[in-house]
Amino acid sequence: MDSENYLLKGQRKRMVEDLREKGIKDEAILRAFSLVPRHKFMLKGFEQWAYRDQAFQIDCNQTISQPYTVAFQTELLELKPGDKVLEIGTGSGYQAAILAELGAEVYTIERFKQLMDTAAANLSENGYDSVKLFYGDGWKGLPKHAPFDKILVTASPGEIPEELLLQLKRGGIAVIPVGGPDKAQKMFKFKRNQDGTFSRSSHGLFRFVPMLKGKT
Ligand code: SAH
Repeated sequence: MDSENYLLKGQRKRMVEDLREKGIKDEAILRAFSLVPRHKFMLKGFEQWAYRDQAFQIDCNQTISQPYTVAFQTELLELKPGDKVLEIGTGSGYQAAILAELGAEVYTIERFKQLMDTAAANLSENGYDSVKLFYGDGWKGLPKHAPFDKILVTASPGEIPEELLLQLKRGGIAVIPVGGPDKAQKMFKFKRNQDGTFSRSSHGLFRFVPMLKGKT
């Protein structure tokens, strides 16, 4: 291992302790954060910042989410190994790698072809080649592959994306930050009940890039 990697590994360990101090409790999730090399999902030249608890710019004017946000959303999903999970907003591929590390079967949609291609390379170079990537509009979900145990949205829709929610299994969970682009967004957890209806709970305010309609 070269000295730079050694340094990054130490920083990654501290990031995990930071997440623990900020309230992330699930040991399996903390372990996944200790294993996924976030610096490999950043733009070239940004690697040294990878283990700060901050969002960073990636291509196409998008962002790799803040580690705490990734951990918080993942915790709300109540993942079980083997869960079939749909992620909206592949971005860098980092969140998808965390889900894969936790044993989920991951489907992820991105509306920028360039980001999808980079994420595909990031994922396969780091051993997460089971992640299934799709170029498309997340508002529509993936009807051909539905239903899903879990749905995770990592961009913010201005209103509840109903077509997407209907692709959730009964007993399933969707985590979606809902709100307009001008203010912070509310983190909602939707549970699909056995009779097909939904219950929802709210989990604080976050900031995401907007979930836009259509492919680019
Ligand atoms: N999960 C990502 C976060 C990326 S930011 C990561 O871990 O890096 C959110 C992403 O959602 C952006 O890449 C943006 O292009 C994408 N996005 C926005 N609207 C979308 C839509 N309708 N369908 C699919 N992806 C969308």
